[in-house]
Amino acid sequence: MIVLAPYACHPEASRGRRHVEPPPTGRNAFQRDRDRIIHCNAFRLLEYKTQVFVNHEGDLFRTRLTHSIEVAQIARSLSRNLGLHEDLTEAISLAHDLGHTPFGHAGQDELNACMRELAPAAGGFEHNLQSLRVVDELEARYAAFNGLNLCFETREGILKHCSVHHARTLGDVGERFLARTQPSLEAQIANLADEIAYNNHDIDDGVRSGLISVEQLQVLEIFATHYAQVKRKYPNIEKRRLVAEVVRAMINTLVVDLTETTLANIRKHGPAHADDVRAAPPLAAFSMSMRRQADALKQFLMHNLYRHYRVMRMTTKARAIVRELFVAFLQEPRLLSDEYRRDDEVAQARAIADYIAGMTDRYAIREHTQLFRMGGDAAL
Ligand code: MG
Repeated sequence: MIVLAPYACHPEASRGRRHVEPPPTGRNAFQRDRDRIIHCNAFRLLEYKTQVFVNHEGDLFRTRLTHSIEVAQIARSLSRNLGLHEDLTEAISLAHDLGHTPFGHAGQDELNACMRELAPAAGGFEHNLQSLRVVDELEARYAAFNGLNLCFETREGILKHCSVHHARTLGDVGERFLARTQPSLEAQIANLADEIAYNNHDIDDGVRSGLISVEQLQVLEIFATHYAQVKRKYPNIEKRRLVAEVVRAMINTLVVDLTETTLANIRKHGPAHADDVRAAPPLAAFSMSMRRQADALKQFLMHNLYRHYRVMRMTTKARAIVRELFVAFLQEPRLLSDEYRRDDEVAQARAIADYIAGMTDRYAIREHTQLFRMGGDAAL
């Protein structure tokens, strides 16, 4: 039996669901949210959505699904160390990327650009907002309501960022972006677990792809330190095991630092309730030195991996596919199935964004081939 800290989110004290339901039996409200997320369509689609490398580039690369599972693992460890509600952190982690487009950030940026240029009244595309939209509106599995009808605490955690413009339209979960307050510690932890997961697995995938090298990574203090330690202990270690050992040690170092710094912040501010956490400055944090090292890691990946010419070539193609699909559907909504046809222009643009955001990489490529290549249909 794990004892929850007083500053944790307690399922019995949840602010509730948008549609009132009887409480679950045999599991708590946050477990029910986690279970609903795992069973929804958008969760399964994550398997075929890009993290950095497009799905068909290799079976060993992370996808949005394995990324989300790694985030949940790290977030649960942190939660347990901090006396937080593990099921809530897990639910937030598994749902955080449900609104992600095909082709990673390239797809999201292009969809946002298309919405802003071609349907300015529709208000752009934000992937965090889309994740919330998936669980609030788009999933169609329950007789009594749209979406998954998750608890406020889970929805609060899913909506990591949000523009003030949108926050005004979102009711309870939008309020903190207007009042500039924080979400629960479970949400703060899931957010930082996301960062720990992608920084580390992108190094692993980057080396595996050959786009970055172990030698290049030596400029990073956190990598070089652990690299030297592993080499000292195992001088003849082969490269694959070496990278795995270093990444493993880096994740551990980040998790330990985050736990200790967060516990110190909790002691300093003494929150006695989840609402005290919300009113305090951000409590989940790395130490200054670790923050600096984690930022250096991010910068390194930005320059050497995400902007590598081979990744950029994929990015350019992905952007073109998203744009051409968006333009085609907007100009000729009859290309869409009834499910995505709307009478109103703004609603039509939003429905197209929902449709494209819901596509996997391979579905988007296939849809693009069907629409733009003579014989595309026959090829399927
Ligand atoms: Mg993520």
